[in-house]
Amino acid sequence: MILIGAPGSGKGTQASVLSNKIGLKHISTGDVLRKYVASGTEEGNALKDIMNRGMLVPSDMVNSLMIKELKSNSGCILDGYPRNVEQAKFLAANYSDDIKVIYLDIDEKLLIQRISGRFSCKQCGAIYNKFLNAPTKEGECNFCGSKEFVVRNDDDTATLMKRMEEYKKETMPLVEYYKDKGGVIKVDASETLEKITSELLFILKRH
Ligand code: AMP
Repeated sequence: MILIGAPGSGKGTQASVLSNKIGLKHISTGDVLRKYVASGTEEGNALKDIMNRGMLVPSDMVNSLMIKELKSNSGCILDGYPRNVEQAKFLAANYSDDIKVIYLDIDEKLLIQRISGRFSCKQCGAIYNKFLNAPTKEGECNFCGSKEFVVRNDDDTATLMKRMEEYKKETMPLVEYYKDKGGVIKVDASETLEKITSELLFILKRH
C-alpha cells in the first residue's frame, strides 16, 4: 500500500498505526534517508544538505536504497515513496505494480499547524504533535516508553514552504499517474487520527 500526501498530511502517523494494527511493515523513505545521513559518509552528508533545504533527493539514489528495503519484504506500507512518476515507474518495473494507492487529501492551512507542533520518539520513531496528539503520559512514548524525543531539522516554516513546492511540482502528478493506472482512493486527511485509521482499515478489507 502506498500513501501519497503533502508533508503533514499524516502519512507517517497512519502508516505506523496501521502497521501496529495489521502487522504490515511500515517503510518510511524519509527515515531510510535520515538513517543514511546519520551514517556520516560523504554521500550521506550531501543528502543532509538537500533534505534540510526541503528538496527531493535524486531519484536514482532513493530507488537504489528503497529496492533493498522492498526486496526483504513481501508486503508493506510505503510512506514517502514513490514521490514522483519516475520513482513510480521504477517501482512497477522492479518490484510490483500490484499496489493500493491512497491519497491523503488535506487543506494547506491545516498542514502548517500539524507540522509546527510535530516531534517524534528518538527510540521507535512514533510521531506526536504537541497541540493535537501528545503522548498519553507526559514526556514518555506511548509505544516504547522512551523519554527522548526529537524535532526534525526540516520542519521550520521556510523549509516547509519549499517542501510544499516540491510536493506540488513532483508528487501531485503521481496522483494523476495512478488514476490512469486504475485507481487512487482519496481519503479526507483533515479528519481525526482515529477516523482516518478506521477508514484506511475499511479500505484495506474491502479492496
Ligand atoms: P519525509 O520524512 O517523507 O517528509 O521526507 C523528508 C525528506 O526526505 C524530503 O523532504 C526529501 O528531501 C527526502 N525524501 C523522502 N522521500 C523521498 C523520495 N521518495 N524521493 C526523494 N526525496 C525523498
